[in-house]
Amino acid sequence: MWRACLESLPTRVNLAKKQIVESSKCPICKSEEENVAHALWNCSSAMDVWSQTQSGLQKCSFRYANFRELVEALMSHYDQDSLEKFVIIARNIWHRRNQFVFENAFTHPNALVKKSRKTLEEYKVLQQKQMKQHGRNAQIQNRWQPPPIGVTKINWDASLNEDRGRAGFGLVARDHTCSILATKKLSKPCLMDPLLAESMGGLYAADMAYEMDCRLVILEGDSLTIVQGIEKQIDRWDRVGMILSDIKHRLVSLTSWRVSHVKRCGNVHAHNLAKEAVLSPGDVVESVDFSANLAHVNT
Ligand SMILES: [Zn+2]
Repeated sequence: MWRACLESLPTRVNLAKKQIVESSKCPICKSEEENVAHALWNCSSAMDVWSQTQSGLQKCSFRYANFRELVEALMSHYDQDSLEKFVIIARNIWHRRNQFVFENAFTHPNALVKKSRKTLEEYKVLQQKQMKQHGRNAQIQNRWQPPPIGVTKINWDASLNEDRGRAGFGLVARDHTCSILATKKLSKPCLMDPLLAESMGGLYAADMAYEMDCRLVILEGDSLTIVQGIEKQIDRWDRVGMILSDIKHRLVSLTSWRVSHVKRCGNVHAHNLAKEAVLSPGDVVESVDFSANLAHVNT
């Protein structure tokens, strides 16, 4: 879906730009240029499918110059269920288009809608299973666990102080031997919103990974909502949502990253640093790099 929003699907318009095909016309209706919005929505063959869905999506029958605009419009009008349905049908429309181009076969709109419904049901079952599994994993993760060899784990926590109108953040980076590589204490003005503070803590943890040039990193926090918000494509349009997407952008530059949840009792070190930080006036309270000491001990 992200590829579609970025207009990077191999549509005729994109292939013509790269001079792989001569015509940018839609291979199905042959009447208009085939960009992503056309292939998945504007084309009469796509509209035949959308008109078969009983989701209200077909009522959104405007034409959109680009796919991103369409997705944004849908996001502001439809709930999560409808959007999931939209994503699966759009994906199947693209598959059908490819089948038509490469195999000269064409699925009937009804069959495509039926198949999409089945896929969605399967997806829901899988999602439920994963949520249950996640619950079980969270139970196991009561204690702090060291990361695998070569991986840095950065734990974060946030602590709010209403009188001071500030949030304190504690960050601690450790390696597989449980050695502390670096710690950080930050204190920032913040609204008294625990979720917002936790998301900011996640962002500082991502910044720390970047500053430390950690290529393989696990970020770990004790707010399940924020951890899930970072690891899944959850759409939130509040400040927390914006910070979550900032975190993801920061993490993209790393070779490999993962985010994990730990119960509060497994996040004590970061928690204590956050508690200390919130009582301090400056923004950066303390930043300690222990890696030089470690190197010194090793040599
Ligand atoms: Zn067409």
